[in-house]
Amino acid sequence: MAHTKLNSRLSKRVQSIQPSGIRRFFDLASKMDNIISLGVGEPDFVTPWNVREASISSLERGFTAYTANAGVFELRKEISSYMNKRFSVQYDPETEILVTVGASEGIDIGMRAILDEGDEVIIVEPTFVSYVPLVQMAGGVAVPVGTTKEDQFKVSASQIKAAITPRTKAIMLCFPNNPTGATMNGQEMQEIADLCEQYDLLVFSDEIYAELSYDENHVSFASLPKMKERTILISGFSKSFAMTGWRLGFVLAPPDLLAAMLKLHQYSLMCAPTMAQYGALEALKSGMDDIERMKQSYKQRRNFIVKSFSEIGLPCHTPGGAFYAFPSVEETGLSSEQFAEKLLMAERVAVVPGHVFGEGGAGHIRCSYATSMDNLEQSVERIDRFLKSL
Ligand code: PMP
Repeated sequence: MAHTKLNSRLSKRVQSIQPSGIRRFFDLASKMDNIISLGVGEPDFVTPWNVREASISSLERGFTAYTANAGVFELRKEISSYMNKRFSVQYDPETEILVTVGASEGIDIGMRAILDEGDEVIIVEPTFVSYVPLVQMAGGVAVPVGTTKEDQFKVSASQIKAAITPRTKAIMLCFPNNPTGATMNGQEMQEIADLCEQYDLLVFSDEIYAELSYDENHVSFASLPKMKERTILISGFSKSFAMTGWRLGFVLAPPDLLAAMLKLHQYSLMCAPTMAQYGALEALKSGMDDIERMKQSYKQRRNFIVKSFSEIGLPCHTPGGAFYAFPSVEETGLSSEQFAEKLLMAERVAVVPGHVFGEGGAGHIRCSYATSMDNLEQSVERIDRFLKSL
């Protein structure tokens, strides 16, 4: 019997993808004691009790079967009215909303739905580590456009324009941004929207941190004139609803794009977990006060960390959203990787070196402030001591 040669068991496509740079660091940190982690990209709140209770109750009532492929209809209706109320976008729960297994699935099936081999997606970086691999897994080519601290990590239309080629199919935007916390206002977004019309581009707008906008109201890309028809809006419950482990997100898109994504979702996942969907339904019905409470708490911690970093000589732009600070370590003369590794070894504070987030990330570290004030105060003391030791 013929055997597959060992080196050809894996597809070339999968072999070409690097494991996440974040993991390597945390594997190292997980073997050490007395670590303060500013590394994790998730809320430090437990999901509010009424949401957990609604999910438990759905199990007690015996709702253990598959749901409709696109998700429980009542949930899609709630998503529709929530998004309308909060972000002035109108989506039809029948044909334009798909409940996914986290925002992660939305990005994956969105890329697979639109890309042919060699199509290019412009990725505004530094940014969430999944975009590039998911573009590549869909056969596409990721084209990075780096942003800088001088521009508060906003991207301009002229930067994007310079990266457009005849193969450009879409732009990936994520504001508020992971890892920089950058936000973009309506006017800044509009300039990119004009470009999308001019060059007939699609837009992925990952708005999972939309509720966590501290200084200005979030403007959804799909709410800009004529942009809904070219936008795949990705969002979910993980961040602002403190539900990372529930694995529940949603995609909003015009019917042709949504139908293509639904096809992929149907074959690979059937539907998002039923009990999680019932929890999410409750979160949308009654969770607005909880979102506000958590947001105010993050904002207070943001203000503390930005002020403290500048006091100890770590320059840090003020992140307008999400729960990350992205200070520059350039003045130390260390690369972000060296800085993060030495800081971990010397003071047991885990941060993520910025280069893992792509172009513009090197020379920075990502510090998640979704941890207790006590941890934040201690980590500032430790980083201060570390800086003085250099
Ligand atoms: N988008 C961004 C920008 C993120 O930061 C994350 C999580 N770190 C995700 C998507 C994935 O979210 P989910 O848990 O809903 O898959």
